[in-house]
Amino acid sequence: MIDQIKGLHHVTSMAADARTNNAFFTHTLGLRRVKKTVNFDSPDVYHLYYGDETGTPGTVMTYFPFPDIARGRPGTGEVGTTLFSVPKGSLGFWQERLSGLGLNGMKADEAFGEKRLHFSGPDGDGFALVEVEKDSRAPWTAGSLDADHAIRGFHSVSLRLRDEGATKELLSFMGYQPLESRDGVTRMIVPGGNDAHTIDLETMPSIARAAQGAGSVHHVAFAVENRQKQLEVRKALMETGYQVTPVIDRDYFWAIYFRTPGGVLFEIATNEPGFERDEDKAHLGEALKLPSQHAHLRSLLEQHLQPLEG
Ligand code: ZN
Repeated sequence: MIDQIKGLHHVTSMAADARTNNAFFTHTLGLRRVKKTVNFDSPDVYHLYYGDETGTPGTVMTYFPFPDIARGRPGTGEVGTTLFSVPKGSLGFWQERLSGLGLNGMKADEAFGEKRLHFSGPDGDGFALVEVEKDSRAPWTAGSLDADHAIRGFHSVSLRLRDEGATKELLSFMGYQPLESRDGVTRMIVPGGNDAHTIDLETMPSIARAAQGAGSVHHVAFAVENRQKQLEVRKALMETGYQVTPVIDRDYFWAIYFRTPGGVLFEIATNEPGFERDEDKAHLGEALKLPSQHAHLRSLLEQHLQPLEG
């Protein structure tokens, strides 16, 4: 077992329209856009990052808006729901706010003693807000929401699996401990984690494998403090038989990726160097930032990429 992983780092999904995506996360959900950049492999596509004030690992939802891509078909082998932590007693406010903004698919329930409100994103993305009493993270409050209501970061993700066995074993190796199993869902937690330290495994033996598209989670990233710890994790995973990519520089963190036995793509990302690497804290997410290998495309991309505001 390894002990370098502290919970979630970011969750990356796909969307069909950049402007709708930006409005949903900054206005509807009240997160801060902490980076506006492009996809390393397809620089004509944005990579948008939303989180708390500085994009603290465990708060960062990221998107690739591929213009007009088809919707994904939900199924197994993917993240089913991405859950955000909100203050105790705030779900009534959220229900009113989201229904006032015309959101559909809202459903309130309770799991593992926590109240939740499920809803769908612009592309059918599966989201929920969870009331959490003890969450020490400060939310972003210079946007559309105040501290009594604002999202404080991820609570968890749920993985939809045909069989939980091998994924449960992998997460245990990654430092997660099973907390409880209820109604076909196993909850796992990293002790001493970063508040985004929960994963739920949902077993759905008769559900077909998902087809990815708009509204699907592309991968889920776990946080390690630095590059040294990342190398330790990479070595341990490889020794256990996982095929892990080399370390890739993603400008705001270093990343390694591997496919899990249940089908979900996992990434391990470093907390360093973070989003203030190339922008002042006061202006995070405002300017179009380009990876150095795409810098020569700036004037082309500025014309091609859809404006997010206005
Ligand atoms: Zn990632």
